[in-house]
Amino acid sequence: MSTPRARKALDGIPVYRPGKPAITEDHKLSSNENPYAPLPGVMERAAAELGRINRYPDAGMTALYEALAERLGVSPDHLAAGTGSVAVLFSLLNAHLEAGDEIVYAWRSFEAYPIAADLTGATAVRVPLRPDATHDLDAMAAAVTDRTKVVLVCTPNNPTGPVVTAAELETFLERVPGHVLVVVDEAYVEFVRDPAAASGLAALAAHDNVVVLRTFSKAYGLAGLRVGYAIARPAIAESIRKATPPFAVTDLSQVAAVASLEAQAALDERVEAIVQERQVMVEALRGQGWDVPATEANFVWLPLGEAALDFAAACDPVSVRPFAGEGVRISVGAPEVNAQLIALAGAWRTARGRSPRT
Ligand SMILES: *Cc1c(COP(=O)(O)O)cnc(C)c1O
Repeated sequence: MSTPRARKALDGIPVYRPGKPAITEDHKLSSNENPYAPLPGVMERAAAELGRINRYPDAGMTALYEALAERLGVSPDHLAAGTGSVAVLFSLLNAHLEAGDEIVYAWRSFEAYPIAADLTGATAVRVPLRPDATHDLDAMAAAVTDRTKVVLVCTPNNPTGPVVTAAELETFLERVPGHVLVVVDEAYVEFVRDPAAASGLAALAAHDNVVVLRTFSKAYGLAGLRVGYAIARPAIAESIRKATPPFAVTDLSQVAAVASLEAQAALDERVEAIVQERQVMVEALRGQGWDVPATEANFVWLPLGEAALDFAAACDPVSVRPFAGEGVRISVGAPEVNAQLIALAGAWRTARGRSPRT
């Protein structure tokens, strides 16, 4: 009997398994979400938009592109938005990769990379992170062959936290041939405080082959509405828009994103509070003896190795994100939930006879 078969490229791709739900959403430290309610003005604008959901959205995303272009200092033809920057990445890779091509990215990095890459049929080349959980850009440049079409650089890196420095990125871009797209995924850029950190926009200004990915899901707190975008040279931005289904981003999402951009002062305040809380968590965990890599994002990484699942189970009252055999990623949430996590982490160490740092 013959049955329809999906493309072979799908065989190695796992089905997405959602994490265990937290006791309450407030206690969820597993998805790098923003603990705050939507920014001032967002709910009102979105609610007003609900009255016209019988209409298709603005497929040209005019108001969103204009607001972003003004904010970023580029013209709107440098932009390509989609339903989250993950979807933008899928479109980008679909537009630029096929079987026989190679894509290079660091590992461990963002879980969506293998899925987006493998779906294209291209061959993935994973370059291990350095022991301090940073990208090894020298090794990544060395991994580029004449088949390489795309390199992904995640800064800050999800799930480990460190940034790529501006100097490292510049050296890398000088080494990589101009026909290789270098995607700088800046999902957490608003949380970066390290003055040495790379800037995707600065790299884009200097190099034609750079694509910057940004999202409204993390700092802006719109994860549920799905808006992300790429910034690139017009021809590259156009290739992404071509590979994106029309009408993907709803008007509800577009107006919420624009309203969020207009609430800059409130955004800055919240991001600063999250950065402060991050510092509190890092210091408390290091004080307990944990080896926490430098983080410039809204999460911290504990390199637990084989103990990752055991630790995650012990943290059940707050939901964290384990990577079996590697470590656990913990989002920075509301202060009282972070405090609960710190207490659980300390108790876990004590119960297993791991002493605090001396
Ligand atoms: C969260 C995240 C994104 C964006 O997610 P969307 O919700 O699809 O915009 C992109 N890259 C990384 C590394 C992320 O962690």
